[in-house]
Amino acid sequence: MKGRINLTGIKVMASHGVFSEEKASLHPFIADAELYIDELERGDDLAGTCDYGTAAEIIVRELSAPSVDLIETLASRAARGIAVTFGCDCSVTVHKPEAPLSVQFSDVSVTARARFTRVCLGLGSNMGDRKKYLDEAVECIRADEENKDVRVSSYMPSAPYGGVADGEFLNACLIMRTLKSPHELLDMCANLEGAAGRVRKEHWGNRTLDVDILFYGDEIIGEEKLTVPHIDMCNREFVLAPLCEIAPGYVHPVYKKTVKDLLAELKRRGR
Ligand code: AMP
Repeated sequence: MKGRINLTGIKVMASHGVFSEEKASLHPFIADAELYIDELERGDDLAGTCDYGTAAEIIVRELSAPSVDLIETLASRAARGIAVTFGCDCSVTVHKPEAPLSVQFSDVSVTARARFTRVCLGLGSNMGDRKKYLDEAVECIRADEENKDVRVSSYMPSAPYGGVADGEFLNACLIMRTLKSPHELLDMCANLEGAAGRVRKEHWGNRTLDVDILFYGDEIIGEEKLTVPHIDMCNREFVLAPLCEIAPGYVHPVYKKTVKDLLAELKRRGR
């Protein structure tokens, strides 16, 4: 059963604020949190849920950190801290009832929401120790605390695509939940490629590592630097075949077809 843990009224005296008088004195900050739990009752066992004592400690730690200007910063840090610790969606509201306003008021607050999105990535390499490049990228992705439940397909060899590269590729796909925004995820992909020493010479050329965003939830993004779902994925068996291993039922948000059906269609077209 899905559910929600609610924590309210956690109070910390601290000196956050834009004005120098605020930074020189202590005033109250009060936080509430909501933790969204996919499976509320796993055998009446604390290990199977989110420990709200730990969540409260994370909030106190963030609110007690060195002075910042904005309660937006406090709420975002606390929400992120809880989300990465428990792997659950979470929202944190920070109240500042003694904010320096020139009018009478009872409270001001900000709510930050940390939300995981299911994403699929495609990986490929056709230079050097291809398996090592894929292994290292997967290891880095798993080590990043903003990524959870990473599942990886088998590594599949494929012929070069687009007529520029010459060596055989090794391809894989992975599915995970991530806290990253689409552009943060794109930066992560570029960093992984950079760490593998990739030099960009030509489009579709040889590469130590290529990491593409295939799906970001069911979002459709058409920007100059980012197209999601990946623009050419439905024409690429080396993408759809490994993806079908780990996410056959994932529905392409533009074509409204599952990965399994898209792969079957591509094979029919190829014949
Ligand atoms: P390539 O590494 O040859 O696939 O091309 C990378 C370039 O494509 C980067 O400059 C990205 O900004 C852009 N790009 C657009 N959409 C995507 C996507 N879905 N995943 C990865 N890169 C993308």
